[in-house]
Amino acid sequence: MIHFILEASLVLVLLLFVVQTVRLHRRERHFQVLADSIESQEKMAAMGRLLAGIAHELNTPLGAVSCSMDLARRALVKMGGALEETDRFPMDAGAEENLARARKALEIVGDNEPILDQALVRIGQLVRQLRLVGRGDHDDPVPVDVNALIEGTLVLLTHELKQDVTMDMRLGDVPPVNGWPGPLGQVFLNLILNAQQAIEGPGRISVSSLVENEQVVVKVSDSGPGLPDGCRENLFSPGWTTKSEDEGTGLGLFISRRIVERHDGTIEAGNDESGGAVFVVTLPAASKGTPKAGV
Ligand code: ADP
Repeated sequence: MIHFILEASLVLVLLLFVVQTVRLHRRERHFQVLADSIESQEKMAAMGRLLAGIAHELNTPLGAVSCSMDLARRALVKMGGALEETDRFPMDAGAEENLARARKALEIVGDNEPILDQALVRIGQLVRQLRLVGRGDHDDPVPVDVNALIEGTLVLLTHELKQDVTMDMRLGDVPPVNGWPGPLGQVFLNLILNAQQAIEGPGRISVSSLVENEQVVVKVSDSGPGLPDGCRENLFSPGWTTKSEDEGTGLGLFISRRIVERHDGTIEAGNDESGGAVFVVTLPAASKGTPKAGV
């Protein structure tokens, strides 16, 4: 009998040991994921500050180039007028040839003007976007134009987006929300990048914004295969991923939800009629109040 009791106790102790070890292992994994998440957020914040610094530095030369462009434009108009005037006077063959050359040169500069203008507008957009991204969530919340943020995010993503994935943008007339443009931009960036990763081959990503019950609603849907089966409980959990180690960390949706909740908003996921995934971010309009700063 004593022998049996001793054996049973031993088995019990062993069992307890195994259970405890598994628990410890899980806890360790949990801490690891949390540490990764904090590290990734800190990296994003540091990157945001760096980008904002670069944007700030770029702004001065950009202003100088824009001013010079304006001056050059006015000078070109004057030069065109002067050439027209010259044309009225009698000229020898040499002068006519020079005039024709000057006209040709003016034409080339004129043809390039829209290209330079477009490039300047684009640099300006990038600089503005970089400055927005640099606003961390320790600053006071500011009114955020969600449409501008989405468009700016796309500017930053231009080279990440696959050629055969089309962007279908339907941005409605939405009021500003109160919050932190940098982190909020990170949410849209995560959702668009996830959508793109889900699509194999040619496809479509749709981004829309609209107002519903005085809230700003942003939907990001894609023509991919939809959310993985049985993912509902895990989708927003830290570290949950179906991607390979070098492709995913499982932190994107976890961090995105935290950011949206800091804005007193919600983020929901599902599949649309066509079977692709759809993520819906709902944020209170700025008129509804201000979220707590520096959470
Ligand atoms: P990660 O992208 O690093 O895996 P996320 O938290 O962003 O981390 O996403 C978690 C998981 O959610 C992904 O691994 C994927 O299985 C699923 N998921 C996210 N977005 C989509 C989407 N647009 N379509 C299909 N599955 C998605």
